[in-house]
Amino acid sequence: MNLIILGPPGAGKGTQAQLLERDRGFIQLSTGDMLRAAQGTELGKKAKAIMDRGELVPDDVMVQIIANKLDEIGDRPFILDGFPRTQGQAEALDALLSKKHKQLGHVIQFKINDKILVQRVVGRFTCASCGEGYHDTLKRPKVENVCDRCGATEFTRRSDDNEQAMRARLAAYHTQTAPLIDYYDGRSFLRVVDGSADFETVRAQIASILDGN
Ligand code: ADP
Ligand code: ADP
Ligand code: ZN
Repeated sequence: MNLIILGPPGAGKGTQAQLLERDRGFIQLSTGDMLRAAQGTELGKKAKAIMDRGELVPDDVMVQIIANKLDEIGDRPFILDGFPRTQGQAEALDALLSKKHKQLGHVIQFKINDKILVQRVVGRFTCASCGEGYHDTLKRPKVENVCDRCGATEFTRRSDDNEQAMRARLAAYHTQTAPLIDYYDGRSFLRVVDGSADFETVRAQIASILDGN
């Protein structure tokens, strides 16, 4: 079964997608990670300027990236994390999936209010080696400066995880991405979890959706 995780920046999409990848064999397709990984290329550099302003990268670029990825992963079940983000992307995704004979299981919406999100994003950091996500107050490594998962000691912070870019990202979410909730609800794919709950509670809510309870 293939999933979309839909929610504002900082809602916990990446955190839960990583857990699903480990627990259930999904492959996480994070378009934000793909753009950051392309930073050495011309396209990556153009994208970085847009990302740092908190705006969205054009649909045609994003759709091409996802189309290539879907070819690459073959028949593995996937989680789209951060895509689609506009009505145009959602429509293009429908066309791609039908062309490739793939289907969506659930669209899982993370519901959470903006106030919590700014705090989450401004404190976020990531293991430079394995990508494990952390937070200054909400999820510190068990041993100071050592990744719980891989033992590495270098961490990175995103240049767009500051309050100013975050305000623009939230505005982009509300105007361009939130309308997708109705788009998917109309086709009865949509499931909702409370993104403001603690890590384990969100994980349990998703597990119950996937296990059909
Ligand atoms: P997204 O992928 O939606 O932008 P992340 O998964 O990166 O969000 O989470 C944003 C920040 O909030 C990270 O620092 C993460 O450790 C923290 N976080 C994620 N889920 C929770 C949660 N349920 N409770 C508290 N903090 C969380
Ligand atoms: P978050 O969910 O924490 O905001 P992401 O890593 O998903 O962050 O995305 C970071 C940035 O990458 C976005 O603010 C946007 O500029 C760009 N981006 C990622 N995915 C898309 C997409 N599907 N469409 C347009 N821009 C995207
Ligand atoms: Zn690590």
